[in-house]
Amino acid sequence: MIDLRSDTVTRPTDAMRAAMASAEVGDDVFGDDPTVNLLQDTVAERLGKEAALFVSSGTQSNLCALLAHCGRGDEYIVGDMAHAYRWEGGGAAVLGGIQPQPIPMHADGLIDPDIVDASVKPDDHHFARTRLLCLENTKDGHVQSVDRMREATLVGRKHNLSIHLDGARMWNGVVALGISAEEFTSEFDTVSMCLSKGLGAPVGSVLSGPAELIHEAHKWRKMTGGAMRQAGVLAAAGLHALDHHVERLADDHANAARLAEGLGNIDGITVVDQATNMVFIEVDGDEPTLQDQLLERGVQTMITTGPRRSLARLVCHLDVSKDEVETTIRTFSELVAG
Ligand SMILES: *Cc1c(COP(=O)(O)O)cnc(C)c1O
Repeated sequence: MIDLRSDTVTRPTDAMRAAMASAEVGDDVFGDDPTVNLLQDTVAERLGKEAALFVSSGTQSNLCALLAHCGRGDEYIVGDMAHAYRWEGGGAAVLGGIQPQPIPMHADGLIDPDIVDASVKPDDHHFARTRLLCLENTKDGHVQSVDRMREATLVGRKHNLSIHLDGARMWNGVVALGISAEEFTSEFDTVSMCLSKGLGAPVGSVLSGPAELIHEAHKWRKMTGGAMRQAGVLAAAGLHALDHHVERLADDHANAARLAEGLGNIDGITVVDQATNMVFIEVDGDEPTLQDQLLERGVQTMITTGPRRSLARLVCHLDVSKDEVETTIRTFSELVAG
């Protein structure tokens, strides 16, 4: 099966499973798990931050960050299509009394610095207190350069906002830009990154930032049920991923570019977008059975069918080889063309 639904569908490799099996562990609630501690120290060091915290998911990571930065009645400025606003169940509002101030987000993840500037509330009893600016990079595969991120973060700094990066797929950005993780995240106080997406670990994200904020986030992780015990088994997968699966993201980016090229040559398919490991396509016509037909031929996708066209996001990852990209292109062309 060639599964293109997401880069979260990867299975741990044999080498990763071996690393997990031989991990030294302890009770992480006591701070005793050496592998968790090593993962946290490794991420903090690579991102040039003081401290880091291993958490269960990207959602928990963003939530703990928001709860650590903001109090009840505070607000955060965030893109209206950002994961930390739109796709996380409103957790900051539900659990923290934190109000989001969504602002328009361009398809490539950029938010306009002027709109950030205009969205910061004055110090006045009518308003929530604007505390935090939250950016996302990469967004739908798109990478923003450090300079572009800085345009927004500088406005945040001008207003004394704290700044958080939802960098669930930051390693794709780091590899695409060919810069260090430290440079990529240098403008941010806190950074959330996923180990369970393109990096191929089965579970986990890491939140990094100033020691004081990570200390606070640790309390919120406990409160949200995220304290884990012999979590070194999972952290070992994360460490393995950081050491072996970062540079190879370039292969996923090349595979996605080839997939876009190949699908773009098929009559009836339009490539709407391609960046890093993601390809977005439109298929002409009403194709309610296309997803099932692809599945029967071993290509797993998630296709949203509409009256005149169908849409799909196809994601390349560790478990999709160069040959499988060619198979995918052939399969689409058999089913769609003509
Ligand atoms: C996937 C994702 C998250 C959430 O991660 P989960 O581990 O699925 O909770 C957060 N932000 C972005 C940008 C993501 O893509």
